[in-house]
Amino acid sequence: MSDIIQLLPDHVANQIAAGEVVQRPASVVKELIENAIDAGATSIKLLLKDAGKTLIQVIDNGKGMSQTDARLSFERHATSKIKDAQDLFNLNTKGFRGEALASIAAIAHVELKTKLENDELGTQIKIEGSKITSQEVVSTAKGTSIAVKNLFFNIPARRNFLKSDTIETRHIVDEFQRVALAHPDISFLLHHNGNEIYNLPKSNFRKRIVGIFGAKMNEKLVPIEEQTDILTITGFVAKPAFAKKKRGEQFFFVNYRFIKSSYLNHAVVNAFEGLLEAGSHPSYFLYLEVPPNTIDINIHPTKTEIKFDNEKALYAILRATVKHSLGQYNIAPLLDFDRDANLDTPYDLSKTSSASMPKITVDPTFNPFKNDPTPHEPVKSTATSSSYTSGSGATGNSNSYTANFKKDPGNWEALYTNTEIESTPSFSSHQEQLFESSQETETGKTFQIQKKYILSSIKSGVVLIHQSLAHQRVLYEEFLESITVKEASSQQLLFPVSISFSSNDIEMIYSIKSDLEGTGFVFEEFTKESVVIRGIPTSITESQITFILEQLLDDMKLEVPDTSFSHFDIMAKSFAKSLAIKTGTILSNKEQENLVNDLFSCKEPNSSPFGKPIFKTLTLQEIDTIFNK
Ligand code: ADP
Ligand code: MG
Repeated sequence: MSDIIQLLPDHVANQIAAGEVVQRPASVVKELIENAIDAGATSIKLLLKDAGKTLIQVIDNGKGMSQTDARLSFERHATSKIKDAQDLFNLNTKGFRGEALASIAAIAHVELKTKLENDELGTQIKIEGSKITSQEVVSTAKGTSIAVKNLFFNIPARRNFLKSDTIETRHIVDEFQRVALAHPDISFLLHHNGNEIYNLPKSNFRKRIVGIFGAKMNEKLVPIEEQTDILTITGFVAKPAFAKKKRGEQFFFVNYRFIKSSYLNHAVVNAFEGLLEAGSHPSYFLYLEVPPNTIDINIHPTKTEIKFDNEKALYAILRATVKHSLGQYNIAPLLDFDRDANLDTPYDLSKTSSASMPKITVDPTFNPFKNDPTPHEPVKSTATSSSYTSGSGATGNSNSYTANFKKDPGNWEALYTNTEIESTPSFSSHQEQLFESSQETETGKTFQIQKKYILSSIKSGVVLIHQSLAHQRVLYEEFLESITVKEASSQQLLFPVSISFSSNDIEMIYSIKSDLEGTGFVFEEFTKESVVIRGIPTSITESQITFILEQLLDDMKLEVPDTSFSHFDIMAKSFAKSLAIKTGTILSNKEQENLVNDLFSCKEPNSSPFGKPIFKTLTLQEIDTIFNK
């Protein structure tokens, strides 16, 4: 038998290895920016086209490369950063494996321009799939510019695997934020498709955080500072009142490198003990400095985990330091007078929403079984009275709990199926299966249990309905309908409201502008850090705007990485969750009935938008067996 083993050609080996280093455009961004930082750049520009799929270009003013180095930099295991294994234990640079450029060059069209400070002329190299296609002497600025075009051009499977531009951009922005936060002494610029997303001048940690997350962040920050032999901590935590429902802004940097550590996160969360509402997560930006020889650096460069020698001690110091700083802040909360109370509303709302019960406004003249097409004025309710009554549908013009789009069920039906149109608008087949007659619900055979469930008598026994989940389902389908059919009605605000967000959040809102308009939002103006809103869906109130938009941004960020992505769906889910009546809300009989009716008019009354079961039926037989009859 003949020998069958052969060595893979370099370009094939490179292509395979590239898979480890480069998963998506964001990986390229991370490697290129880190190289620029290692080269001592004080200014780094990142230019993107089509979420990096068409172009990722990083331009730095660092030390540049000689002609020979420029060529060598694309060789595998070519690095200027370590000479022998001993260097691994005293590493102060980001890269050291010398494989990033070789990997990137294996799977893209790369154009490098670089010049040493004291040289007259620089070098330009073009490489496609590991093959150098041209090398020239050029005149160029000091430093290095690397343009990576058509990523994965020669691996169609990988290219097809890339997610939507929104998702890939989100990944890039995450990487960009992490390096920019770690290096406030470097100025950063980010352009996407010609639009400036970030322009961050050289500054300090606080200003950098504010530069990225928006001016509103400034008032939220509590400084943290501690210096011990084994650890120096600087940075900020956000005041407990600004804790988020979702883990969002949580950043640890160890020796100016972003890391993830559930262990250290635990230390910080622990320091907030007693100050946070259940289920909320503190924001933090913490910079830890430890001697390089006390961390395990032999980790893969694309990983963000790290191993410390003195893990337990670090935990204790971190927890004590954060606790101390929070304590100092809590002692003098009244000194904190320069914050704009208006901006606090949404947070106060979320803070108190579970404690104080929203009031319910009922339209006493409302009859769920009367098919009354008379439009009502949109309700102008206050923040606390809004959640139930105003949740009556993005299609608007109702002032009680009625899903009035059902007045025209034709649209609704046509949206999803081509099946027959219901002849009785306020009654669906679901209901007819469950209820003996319309009389039954109308005479009020519903009971509320523990301000959480609604018990209702049905044909075959009883049904127990989770009120909050039921309302989520109703709102979800209403929003989905109004977004897709784009017939939402909007209420004009007396005075346009300006809301500040970080520039990245503004980008996100802008990217879903037309979808938001579909729900009834009317935008007047987008600036870099604010959005001016002139109209809102009839189903929400002015005081809820910030809250539901922030919730939506959180949800979008969270949904982004994995799930199949649909703006509509995330938006409808997010709004439904924000606006649904909560457990603890007392409902009148009429409201209970309306909710039950609306639920069973839904397309999918069985489960909440998040897949949780909404109700459970107990048949007479099942009840009988309880009593052994
Ligand atoms: P590593 O960063 O692990 O050394 P890379 O493949 O990322 O490996 O880069 C290879 C080498 O190319 C680096 O060690 C460095 O000497 C040089 N290099 C890469 N990018 C730059 C840059 N922007 N400026 C100057 N030198 C660079
Ligand atoms: Mg590198």
